[in-house]
Amino acid sequence: MLLQENVSLAPLTTFRLGGPARFFVEAKSSGEAQEAVLFAQSRNLPLFVLGGGSNLVVADSGWPGLVLKVAIPGIERRPGNDHEGRVLFDVGAGESWDRFVSHAVRAKCAGVECLSGIPGSVGGTPVQNVGAYGQEVSQTIESVEVFDRKDGRVRELCRDACSFAYRSSIFNTIERGRFIILRVTYALTPGGEPHLEYADLKRHFEGRETRPDLAETREAVRHIRARKGMLIVAGDPDCQSAGSFFKNPVLSEAQHEALQRRAVAKGFALPSYPAPISPSLEKNRKVSAAWLVEKSGFARGYGFGHVGISSKHALAIVNRGGATAAEVLSLKDQIQQRVEEIWAVRLEPEPVMVGF
Ligand SMILES: Cc1cc2nc3c(=O)[nH]c(=O)nc-3n(C[C@H](O)[C@H](O)[C@H](O)COP(=O)(O)OP(=O)(O)OC[C@H]3O[C@@H](n4cnc5c(N)ncnc54)[C@H](O)[C@@H]3O)c2cc1C
Repeated sequence: MLLQENVSLAPLTTFRLGGPARFFVEAKSSGEAQEAVLFAQSRNLPLFVLGGGSNLVVADSGWPGLVLKVAIPGIERRPGNDHEGRVLFDVGAGESWDRFVSHAVRAKCAGVECLSGIPGSVGGTPVQNVGAYGQEVSQTIESVEVFDRKDGRVRELCRDACSFAYRSSIFNTIERGRFIILRVTYALTPGGEPHLEYADLKRHFEGRETRPDLAETREAVRHIRARKGMLIVAGDPDCQSAGSFFKNPVLSEAQHEALQRRAVAKGFALPSYPAPISPSLEKNRKVSAAWLVEKSGFARGYGFGHVGISSKHALAIVNRGGATAAEVLSLKDQIQQRVEEIWAVRLEPEPVMVGF
């Protein structure tokens, strides 16, 4: 295990801001990750687990303890199929997520093609149950291998044990900080059709006579993402961000009706989608956070010193160069306050705040 001191975290994040880590270890194996945890325990240091740094705002003061970057590599396809005819892939938590998606698509295995172009690591995907264009990783995760900091053991959590829901799992709620994700097993469908339910994707392929294959779907998703500044493209100032800064609010039927009345009174049609997570909540609706932000006076391209809103997507706060975490949080506060004043809805940030 190579222990480093005072390592700058900004270059290890997509936002490219924030202070240093007091101690830093990059673990390429489960053993190294466990050694790093023991080191933090022995010195009573707070531990932060870093993946690809694509969903973080790191405080300007940095992290006072140990940052453990999980860099365990490897994509392995198990021989044969499971009882449902699916193929299992065991993937190291440190693999690039998009590299795995590309690998799966080339192997003609369906299930993650709509999640093309999402930055970050494989180990980051179960944490907030990454989702886009009609797919979520919880639909294909078979199990998650973790190091349990509570009892110092490596164990396998099945999908149900992870309690996946919209942008959440045990890893970012009730068991936050307990588990270090070492490996994720995905069950994909060999020869399966691409999932083409999302409106943007349907529009992309409108007028086509033949059904697009997985590779074409992947390219379409990456193309749509690039247009929205949601693909990391070197030199594009709109992608120095943490992606969507706010979650889409999920409202009860009554809350949704109240919001709809406000929208109608202002002459707007409120875009919303069904968001059932269980049969008892089938009337829940997911409302577009981007719409609420834009309709509160924060248009695409809005500027506020070193920080601003992406010129391609109202939901992304961007570092226009030289921004501080304090400036990002100040813009976040302004947006939250304004949206709440106008729409009586509290937007919840999606990125993880580190060191505040
Ligand atoms: C341009 C852009 C577009 C994006 N688009 C989407 C999108 O469409 N959908 C979506 O859901 N997200 C999106 N995101 C957010 C982000 O890419 C995902 O949440 C991603 O899965 C985060 O993974 P990461 O490895 O970068 O995690 P990090 O940002 O490094 O960490 C995020 C959280 O996960 C924890 N974590 C990471 N790795 C591990 C591990 N091995 N063990 C335990 N905990 C761990 C960290 O402690 C932290 O709490 C986007 C971000 C950007 C910048």
